[in-house]
Amino acid sequence: MSAPLVFRSVARGGEAPAMRDRRGQPVPGLERDIRLDHIAEGLQGCRFEEPSIDSGLLETMLARVHDAEYLRFLSLPHNGEFNPRWHAPGVAPDTALGPESYAAALQAACCALAAAGACAQGEPVTYALCRPPGHHAGRDFMGGYCLLNNAVSAVHRLLESGMNPVALIDLDFHFGNGSAQLTAGRSDCFFASIHADTSNHFPYTPEGLSSGQMSRSFKSPPTRESWLSALRDVLAEADARGCKVLVISLGFDIIAGDPHGGWQLPPSIFADIGEQLKETGLPLCLIQEGGYHLPRLADCAAFLCSDLVPAGNPA
Ligand SMILES: [Zn+2]
Repeated sequence: MSAPLVFRSVARGGEAPAMRDRRGQPVPGLERDIRLDHIAEGLQGCRFEEPSIDSGLLETMLARVHDAEYLRFLSLPHNGEFNPRWHAPGVAPDTALGPESYAAALQAACCALAAAGACAQGEPVTYALCRPPGHHAGRDFMGGYCLLNNAVSAVHRLLESGMNPVALIDLDFHFGNGSAQLTAGRSDCFFASIHADTSNHFPYTPEGLSSGQMSRSFKSPPTRESWLSALRDVLAEADARGCKVLVISLGFDIIAGDPHGGWQLPPSIFADIGEQLKETGLPLCLIQEGGYHLPRLADCAAFLCSDLVPAGNPA
């Protein structure tokens, strides 16, 4: 059986220099390099490759996803400031930009594009082990540590390879408002999300899903079975729509103890998630989003990948 192929960010740094909560109060930034060290510990037995993406391809794909002026702004020198203009409407500016923030975000986008490229070439399971996350980034806005939408970049690369339609399934604790915006109205991408109610959790705005998109939102912490039942519904819909590949926005912040979460699910739920994903028989392109409870990140990754190789795959 071939093990999942992991593309890990090679650059270090660019950690969020400051964060603010819903009321604008400073809070510790938890989006750090060490997260990936812990997750990688749980991926023993996987194959690791450095992402190698041509700068022209990166530029082309980012231009498909983001507004040119927004990209230009991100590329300017920054020094830890907040930028209200470039946050989503109604979302309090929470993500500061430091001198290395954009370089880190570009590296994450490269991981996602490499994972999508390998997936398009026949790898059954690819994994972009990247940071910062991306699912809160929209066409011209950042937020929740996210600057560039890595998962939607992967969707575009898969579509270009002829895998159509693509399902983008967001499993992070938080609603992927950026991914929802960027896939709205597309007949070639089915977006679905399972998340905590947005009136009480980031991004604190109505979901505003467009026709054809799907969500399962929990107002109170779900049981393991209720969460897994939501995943079954979402995957059944992807199957009904004839999706050819699953891009998974993978958040480990659904587990108990996550400082940005609020649920009580155990890391072992990721074994069940892996099993359900495998049962679809579809190629999987996993994109790392959140997950901040350092002592349990390796467990989450190990449970997920314990069974993540499609049946019948050659050794
Ligand atoms: Zn999250």
